[in-house]
Parts: sequence; C-alpha cells; structure tokens
Amino acid sequence: MSTWQNWGGNVTANPTILRPTSAEEVQALVTNSQHIKAVGAGHSFTSIAATDGVLLKLTSMNAVVEHDAATNRVRVQAGMSLNQLNRELLARGLAMPNLGDVDPQSVAGATSTGTHGTGAKLRGIADAIVALQLVTAAGDILEIDENHPWFNAARVGLGALGIVTEITLQCVPAYLLHANERPMPLPEVLANMDSLADSNDHFEFFWFPHTEKALIKENNRVPEGTPRNPLPTWRYRLDDEFLSNTLYERIQRLSVRAPKAVPTINKISGSLLGARQYTDHSHEVFISPRRVRFCEAEFALPREAAREAIGELQKWIARTDERISFPIEVRFAASDDIWMSTGYQRDNVYIALHQYQRKDFAKYFAATQDIFTAHEGRPHWGKMHSLGAEYFESVYPKFNEFVAIRNELDPERRFSNEYLDRVLG
Ligand SMILES: Cc1cc2nc3c(=O)[nH]c(=O)nc-3n(C[C@H](O)[C@H](O)[C@H](O)COP(=O)(O)OP(=O)(O)OC[C@H]3O[C@@H](n4cnc5c(N)ncnc54)[C@H](O)[C@@H]3O)c2cc1C
Repeated sequence: MSTWQNWGGNVTANPTILRPTSAEEVQALVTNSQHIKAVGAGHSFTSIAATDGVLLKLTSMNAVVEHDAATNRVRVQAGMSLNQLNRELLARGLAMPNLGDVDPQSVAGATSTGTHGTGAKLRGIADAIVALQLVTAAGDILEIDENHPWFNAARVGLGALGIVTEITLQCVPAYLLHANERPMPLPEVLANMDSLADSNDHFEFFWFPHTEKALIKENNRVPEGTPRNPLPTWRYRLDDEFLSNTLYERIQRLSVRAPKAVPTINKISGSLLGARQYTDHSHEVFISPRRVRFCEAEFALPREAAREAIGELQKWIARTDERISFPIEVRFAASDDIWMSTGYQRDNVYIALHQYQRKDFAKYFAATQDIFTAHEGRPHWGKMHSLGAEYFESVYPKFNEFVAIRNELDPERRFSNEYLDRVLG
C-alpha cells in the first residue's frame, strides 16, 4: 500500500498502485479487484480519482496506436499526457482544436472530467473523441465509437463506467495562434465581455479580487504563411517563470501572513504582468507553467447569466471578511452533446475561483457555490464543490440515462468511490 496525493494536496488515499502495460493486463486486474480506479496526473481537486483499493497508473500506456492521415484522426493509449500528445500531433502536422491551460493531465484523465479551454465557438477536449476502448467491470474490452449507443455517456465518463485504455481523437491541421495579452479595467471588460468573447477565437480574462484590475487574453488563428514569432526566452523566463511562479509563490506566502494586505497585494499582482504579443504553435500559447499550488472551484453557467453572476460575486467579495489572493478566471465555450459534459446543450461562461493551497477555501467556495447554483451552474467534475446527485439530476437532462448505463456496466460499483457515490447516487 502507498500514500497517494493529488496535485492540490487536498486529497490523500492509501491505494495499492499498479502500472499495467496493456488492455489485457488492465482486464485481468479489473476482474480480480473489488475496488479499482485509474488515475491520470492527479490534477483533479475533487476526490474523483481517489481509492484505497487498486489505483492504476497508465503512464506506460502512452504510445500512438494509429494515425490516419486522410481523416486527421489519431488513436493513442489512454495514459499519454497532453504534453506528449501535443508533441506527437505536431510531429504529424496536427493539433487539438482547443486545450485548457496546463498539460500534465493524461488524455483519459482530462477528458473523463470534461476538461475545457476557452473559445465561444469551441467545445471541451472530450468533444474531439470519436472512439474509445473501455475495459468494463465484467472484464470485456469494448470499442465505443460514434455509432455506439453509449458514445455520449462514455466520452465524459467520470471514471465511473470502466477503465479507458485507448482513445481516438479527431485532430485538426497544426495552426499558429497570435496571443494578445493586456491589462484592461474590469468595468471595461464587463461592458465589452460578449463582443470580446465572440470576436476572438479564444478569449479569457483574469480578475484580481478586491480590485478593478483585470488581464485579458485574446488568442486568434493567424492566416496561412504567417511566421512564428514566439516570446523571447528572457520574456518567457521573466513573465511565465519568475513573475507568474517564483515571485507569485512569495507573494502568496506573504498574503497568508498579512491577510489585510491582500487588496494591495492584488493591485500590485495585477500590475506586474504588462502587455505582450507573440505568435506560436497553438499548444505553446494555450499552456502555461503552473507551479504555485492552489485549490480551485469552477462553475459553468449559461452565458446569458455571466454579467449577473459576476456582479453578485463582486458584491460578495466587497462585503466578506475573506481575503482572496488569487485571480478569478473567466472563460467561454460552446454547447456540446456529451451527457455529463458541463457544456451539454448549453453555451457557457466558466467562472473559476482559486485559493492558495495554504489558505482555507471553505467559506469562499461555499458562498460562491450558492451564487452559481442559483443560475443552474454545473461544477467542473474535477474541481471543488459540495453538490450531490439530486442537484445534478436537475441540471443534467441525461443524468438518469447516464446512471442507468453505470448500473448496467458496474452493478457492483467496482469503479466507485465516495465522490462518485455522492454525485451519482
Ligand atoms: C494546475 C491545474 C490546471 C488546470 N487547468 C484546467 C483547465 O484549464 N481546464 C479544465 O477544464 N480543467 C483544468 N484543470 C482540471 C483538470 O484538467 C481535471 O481535473 C482533469 O480531470 C485532471 O486530469 P488528470 O489526468 O490529472 O486526471 P485525474 O485527476 O487523475 O483523474 C480524473 C478522473 O479521470 C479518471 N481517469 C483517469 N484515467 C482514466 C482511465 N484511463 N480510464 C477511466 N478513467 C480514468 C479518474 O479515475 C478520475 O475519475 C486543472 C487542474 C490543475 C491542477
């Protein structure tokens, strides 16, 4: 038995960790285990991946299985990290249509919780899945493709339906993005939020709580033939390594010792990163190093609720004694047809709250959860919330159909844990 901990440091378990190398090995382990789960990079803040039973790390199952150059479809083993995936795709002249902001997650781990990036016309990562291989509790190895009745349940399966061993992704030709990052006062961002979201391929902003400071990011595809113009190494080291990580860690530690200084600290933090523009491979623009550890809650809300919900958040922050030292991130994504995806049949705004790992987040996340659920918010499955099955039944139209498939595939709850019991019943 070993001790396992997630990235945020807020979830610990004592599983037997095993590292299978093939679907057949996974099949044998599933058949012989009472409780078994797979874990990716442990980047979920919820205990969705935790078990004291058998925990499978699929890090050795990280190969490209097939590349169909005619369709731009690539099949990979499910334990491949997004970091490796991006490199493998680029080597084949391909890329993912959209990504979140970090890349250590495994392909199966990221898609199982509905990981997403930003882009009002774009969907979450799991939308690129066109087929997957699933080892079930009965020990079957199933191929679930677009024609399979369980396709829209399995693409965001929460780890509840079985162990995913291979995934086929619909990729796109590799593309460059032009990044335009700059400070903008929050009132101006809010006044122009819809047009900023709709006129950019990928728009997001970071708001520094207790201040009116915000930083916007507009990332857009460039015309064919535009040369790469990456950040100079010194600028990357200064902004992404030193200011956003090394110095930011020190600032966060200071905010623990001097909570009253947080508004001033946030004003300074909001002014540290200046405007910058560069053009690079899509994944180089999407992904940033994140080494300052935090805990996070994130809710998807109907896009039309964005202004009102952010207004309520502003009012709560103005009246609370809590001091929030991490920026609030706001993103956008288009609706999809994946049953347990936060984007199911709904264009969303995503509002993500972070709290430094050495600080208590309970009051902050509880109060803001009330704001978001009043707007039918759907929490990210991998980020903090305290909601249960009854609530999810009310905000996911296909909740009961998903649970019925789970009952059929895993009647003995071999793949379950406390978290899944709570959210699925
Ligand atoms: C620093 C940081 C930045 C983040 N940025 C974003 C972001 O930009 N956008 C966003 O949406 N989210 C983001 N997240 C959340 C993160 O992407 C999700 O929680 C994701 O699920 C984590 O992937 P993982 O590989 O670590 O999976 P884990 O957290 O290890 O597991 C997640 C789930 O997948 C299941 N699973 C893993 N492998 C398999 C498998 N082979 N078969 C079946 N089930 C499996 C696990 O059992 C569990 O249920 C971020 C998290 C962190 C810590």
